[in-house]
Amino acid sequence: MASDIQPQPQARKPCLLSKIEAFQEVVSTAVIIPKEDGVISVSEDRTIRVWLKRDSGQYWPSVYHTMPSSCSCMSFNPETRRLSVGMDTGTICEFVLAEDYNKMTPARTYQAHQSRVTVVLFVLEMEWLLSTSQDKNFTWHCSESGQQLGTYRTSAWVSGLQFDVETRHAFVGDQSGQVTILKLEQDSCSLVTTFKGHTGNVTALCWDPVQRVLFSGSSDHSIIMWDIGGRKGTAIELQGHNDKVQGLCYASHTRQLISCSADGGIVIWNMDVTRQEVRDMDGTRQEVRDMDGTRQEVRDMDGTRQETPEWLDSDSCQKCEQPFFWNFKQMWDSKKIGLRQHHCRKCGQAVCGKCSSKRSTIPLMGFEFEVRVCDSCYESISDEDRAPTATFHDSKHSIVHMHYEPTAGNLLTSGTDKVIKLWDMTPVVS
Ligand SMILES: [Zn+2]
Ligand SMILES: [Zn+2]
Repeated sequence: MASDIQPQPQARKPCLLSKIEAFQEVVSTAVIIPKEDGVISVSEDRTIRVWLKRDSGQYWPSVYHTMPSSCSCMSFNPETRRLSVGMDTGTICEFVLAEDYNKMTPARTYQAHQSRVTVVLFVLEMEWLLSTSQDKNFTWHCSESGQQLGTYRTSAWVSGLQFDVETRHAFVGDQSGQVTILKLEQDSCSLVTTFKGHTGNVTALCWDPVQRVLFSGSSDHSIIMWDIGGRKGTAIELQGHNDKVQGLCYASHTRQLISCSADGGIVIWNMDVTRQEVRDMDGTRQEVRDMDGTRQEVRDMDGTRQETPEWLDSDSCQKCEQPFFWNFKQMWDSKKIGLRQHHCRKCGQAVCGKCSSKRSTIPLMGFEFEVRVCDSCYESISDEDRAPTATFHDSKHSIVHMHYEPTAGNLLTSGTDKVIKLWDMTPVVS
């Protein structure tokens, strides 16, 4: 007897809309053109292409332009249809796209850097073109005159760059793992402060000017949310990736953060929950110029810590009091074997393995994966506390770049497989 198949409730996940697979090399950067069903791609294969969706549902190139060298990055401004492309050679080439996106006209070339341009960012409000390079220079040009306005030497080459128009602060994330905040004037800049929290390269930055929050992603697999608007020095760590974080986008209308990693993982974080701060980032108190420009003593972004733990140091387990292995005196006195030290991620106590045998997720502390907790903390975490605050999805390609377009709710991922995938995110970002 045939039984009725009960339809399974549709899992809420990104829905793959299209694939673009025509590249000889990896697509360094690609963006969705708002309201246009179009995509602009720049690739290591030296091409700049504009793709428009045809009636067949397929994307076909309406512009195909070959450059003399690899294209490493780009910035597209939809209002002016201005496209700024960073090259492997250090130059930045500017184009203007026709209204129907069928034609592209060269506008200007900037001899901006000595080596590969890593990030380019056009700021229409200032008529500034910001760029960074493997030559470790951060520079900004006037896009009206083409003149270089200023330059700043960074400690390592930069892989993430964001700009706050209102206060003219640039956020510069580099390969040493730090984020430098610079206040830009017309032709000079001053160092405001640095955020130190990552143990690997900064790979992506995302600034939300509304809530005044900066997200940094790193090769250490973590994301840190730096709450600048909150003015309390709060930094919250988000642990949900198993590989290098490669892209970050914030959907401010739904207060969700979209992040992706090199293993193909896409994580959507609900940022409308209050997470606890996880750890003391550095602890140094220093005088810095405040974001508003007033000079005052403030605790560094990595300075304050709220309820939650700094890892405690102890020579013996803070639960059962057995000595840790370096504590020879107590080992001898009590004739006990020295134990290995662990830390409970919830309370921060130094504990032995036996007293921290359990694992738990602690989503409200940013831990979407199970982490070590001591036995008493394990008892204190309820099922409700364990409810995930993020959803996890697999893009099935190793992501190098990501772009989210909020009006249609579409996400673009570009992979090491030389393929661009377009996703409908409305089932999960809403
Ligand atoms: Zn113990
Ligand atoms: Zn604990």
